[in-house]
Amino acid sequence: MIQLDFHPAGRHFLQIPGPSPVPDRILRAMSYPTIDHRGPEFGALGLKVLDGIKKIFKTKHPVIIYPASGTGAWEAALSNTLSPGDTVLMYETGQFASLWKKMADNLGLKPEFLGLPGAEGWRHGVDAAAIETRLRVDTGHLVKAVCVVHNETSTGVTSDIAAVRRAIDAAGHPALLLVDTISGLASADYRHDEWGVDVTVSGSQKGLMLPPGISFNALSPKAIEASRHAGLPRSFWGWDEIIEMNKNGYWPYTPNTNLLYGLAEALDMILGEGLDNVFVRHQRLAEACRRAVRAWGLEIQCADPAVYSPVLTGVMMPEGVDADAVRKIIYERFNLSLGAGLGKVKGRMFRIGHLGDCNELTLMAALAGCEMGLTIAGVPVAGSGVSAAMAYLAATPAAAAPLKAVA
Ligand SMILES: *Cc1c(COP(=O)(O)O)cnc(C)c1O
Repeated sequence: MIQLDFHPAGRHFLQIPGPSPVPDRILRAMSYPTIDHRGPEFGALGLKVLDGIKKIFKTKHPVIIYPASGTGAWEAALSNTLSPGDTVLMYETGQFASLWKKMADNLGLKPEFLGLPGAEGWRHGVDAAAIETRLRVDTGHLVKAVCVVHNETSTGVTSDIAAVRRAIDAAGHPALLLVDTISGLASADYRHDEWGVDVTVSGSQKGLMLPPGISFNALSPKAIEASRHAGLPRSFWGWDEIIEMNKNGYWPYTPNTNLLYGLAEALDMILGEGLDNVFVRHQRLAEACRRAVRAWGLEIQCADPAVYSPVLTGVMMPEGVDADAVRKIIYERFNLSLGAGLGKVKGRMFRIGHLGDCNELTLMAALAGCEMGLTIAGVPVAGSGVSAAMAYLAATPAAAAPLKAVA
């Protein structure tokens, strides 16, 4: 057994925006013996998770489960629907949007990258009007897909997916809508069918509270139809054979059985709490976290309050402060992991994850670790973020009111 050199007492605080902490219930479920993936018990497990996961995506159509990280499901979404040389419209919200675009390049697609220039673009969500404008001039319908990230994990900025759908429709354009909600699913409101998404890409290690290793493609009938003519080469990722075998709860290859035990448990937990309650819990913790950041006198990476992420908060450092040095102090002194700034914002900010198996006191511990670490690092803080967050949490009820639709 590898000895991880963690703090000897208490739990490690894994407050990065994925992988998120795996609840004990899920760890225990995954410790059941591995079974025959062609046997009758497996078929029942397969049908259970394939059906349950549809409720999380809010879809009636097939959801593909891959034994792969989220990056694999990105490739599956592109390679099943597109052909070499196809133009795809992507939108630069941050590091993950940029990596998906790089993959499109690597696969022989022609990605066009919309977005604001420089690091400023990494503080805003997708501008649906810019997508509509671009699609209106594409009278020859060369753009085959619009690809956007729902919850940009590198910054803590969400995007309005329903607005992107409306933009495509307003332009009268037939492009497919492909959405990455790898870090949004089961934390932020998401509606695959209602929002008219053709392929939704997601993963296991964020809101679903599982270890890394499972990823998803939720499909639309239009996406399945597109896959019949899509010319990019694919084999492992091909939907058709998987959909066929999934009808009886099986896969064409050996799926990751123990992670599927974990997925079954996660579905019980999330659907047991109620998806709407899960969303309200995330929104409330995120608001408490933002109040802490403001009380410290620091800036939130997301510049548009309408699209604050319920999953994570990006905290910008004052000029001249190295965010990675602050993170290092917090990790070494308090056994607390925070997310690093990536790409264009490397060293400029850190990210506090408040997703998945997170409650009020988990968040308060993380904020206390941050506050102490900022002080030790000599970062001037205006006031106590911990006090501000506590005051908010104490004054607001935890019980979820019915969620209003956030389209
Ligand atoms: C985590 C993440 C990915 C990458 O997923 P992997 O499982 O690391 O391959 C892609 N997009 C977003 C938005 C993510 O949060």
